[in-house]
Amino acid sequence: MKQNLTIALSKGRILKDTLPLLEAANIIPAEDIFSSRKLIFDTNHDNIKLVVIRATDVPTYVENGGADMGVAGKDVLLEYGAKGLYEPLDLDIAKCRLMVAGMKGAADVQGRMKVATKFVNVTKAYFARQGRQVDIIKLYGAMELAPIMGLADRIVDIVDTGNTLRANGLEPLEDICYVSSRMVVGKAAMKMKHRQIQPILELLAAAVEARKEGVEVEKADL
Ligand code: AMP
Repeated sequence: MKQNLTIALSKGRILKDTLPLLEAANIIPAEDIFSSRKLIFDTNHDNIKLVVIRATDVPTYVENGGADMGVAGKDVLLEYGAKGLYEPLDLDIAKCRLMVAGMKGAADVQGRMKVATKFVNVTKAYFARQGRQVDIIKLYGAMELAPIMGLADRIVDIVDTGNTLRANGLEPLEDICYVSSRMVVGKAAMKMKHRQIQPILELLAAAVEARKEGVEVEKADL
């Protein structure tokens, strides 16, 4: 008998790129996720459900067994520091970089630098690796505002096109790491539901490769 399987999806910009990959793996929501206020969605498989939650909650759900697998950005995974998760597949979507940025042309900071970010753990680890001492200021959004208002000397944030930085008079200064969305699987789920999960991972991997090459894959049976 097929076991039930729950897949946690990050809402927001990742979702729009995730759904076509799931569809190529023949996992299709029973209704339009974007026009619904529901949090749990049935799919074309009786035993597979999708939950749509905040990106930062995906590792928590998957690590603790609230969902069996999930889609989360590498930025979120690094910040969360998950130990109870496998990360078997790079979905090659929502690609961007985590960067240090500051006001355009700003002078070097003398003494302890103030860095505003929502990625506190990643930022701490990055500067610690370099032996640089910084004061970290936790923000929940609009990091670009912090140097403008004199709250911080630098920010650590996600940069895609760089338009947000430029529009606010900032520039990228240091590259911390590459970010893309990953399929994660809970360690317990990987053990208990391996027969269910493995074919999904294989179909998704094929869909990712096909997307890279711009080819359509045939829909497969699970
Ligand atoms: P951009 O102006 O294209 O450099 O985009 C930068 C802003 O968009 C950042 O401040 C992020 O909040 C958001 N962003 C861009 N790409 C991603 C992504 N892959 N995941 C999460 N947020 C992103």
